[in-house]
Amino acid sequence: MNSALLNSNELKAQAMRLGFVACGVAPAEPVQEWYAQQFRHWLQLGFQADMEYMQNHVEMRLQPSLLHPGVKSIVSLALNYMPERQQPGISLYAQGKDYHDVMHERLRQLMAKTGLQGRAFVDTAPVLERYWAWRCGIGEFCRNGLISVPGYGPTVFLGEIFAEQEADTYDVPISPESDNGGGWESLCPALTPQGLDARLCLSYQTIENRGELPQDVHLKRTFYGCDRCLRACPQFRESHPTSDEAFQPSSELLGMQESDWRSLTPEQYTVLFRKSAVKRAKYQGLIRNILNWEP
Ligand code: SF4
Repeated sequence: MNSALLNSNELKAQAMRLGFVACGVAPAEPVQEWYAQQFRHWLQLGFQADMEYMQNHVEMRLQPSLLHPGVKSIVSLALNYMPERQQPGISLYAQGKDYHDVMHERLRQLMAKTGLQGRAFVDTAPVLERYWAWRCGIGEFCRNGLISVPGYGPTVFLGEIFAEQEADTYDVPISPESDNGGGWESLCPALTPQGLDARLCLSYQTIENRGELPQDVHLKRTFYGCDRCLRACPQFRESHPTSDEAFQPSSELLGMQESDWRSLTPEQYTVLFRKSAVKRAKYQGLIRNILNWEP
């Protein structure tokens, strides 16, 4: 453990130099009760569908010191992923390189440059990343449950560092407690007043569901992910393209036409998505989606 105080301003300046668009720091206290209650209720409703990993380690999600003993501060960071161009059918966030790799490398660089000790997380550990983004004051909750960063909207990736140093100053939320999204059923039935019901969400169905697509699921404009509520969000007005090369689609991806998708081979899939988050759906899952796609 490092006993030197974390200089919050220096950390943020270094984060901006590495291309992060927001950085905030909060004490590593347990998740506040209002959010913990919402999260438990969301699980009780079964809204996580068969993403069993969401049910695992609930207490660890709510208590940072159970995940990383010795943690003193949580640093939440955001990268703008809005690409300059888009291949239709694929969610905006998955146009470029796999965000896990890009974010992890940037977090690693930030820790190396600032001497920050601890652990970096990118959507791969029991961390409530949207809560921490809110708590660290880098964004506010949208009605679709996403986090919107002022000036950049909801098209941001989030990453966290569980730091072993206390900070000289801590940030506070920029907006009051949220109802954790939902209440937008007229736009999409998945957006319930109790939060997002993943079972009804095209993003879940096209990426996480390893089985058959339910008969009432229709893929109109998408075969990987869904941006409908993202684009409908009033905060989306603040989203603007990044020049970050990591999040731009390759010329090969941009060149794909509907007929190319319909005849996609495993070999083409491997080349096209070698470094992409689209790999998560696997070849079989992507083909299943493409066969159900009505552009
Ligand atoms: S991502 Fe699409 S399907 Fe999922 S909640 Fe938003 S609009 Fe509905």
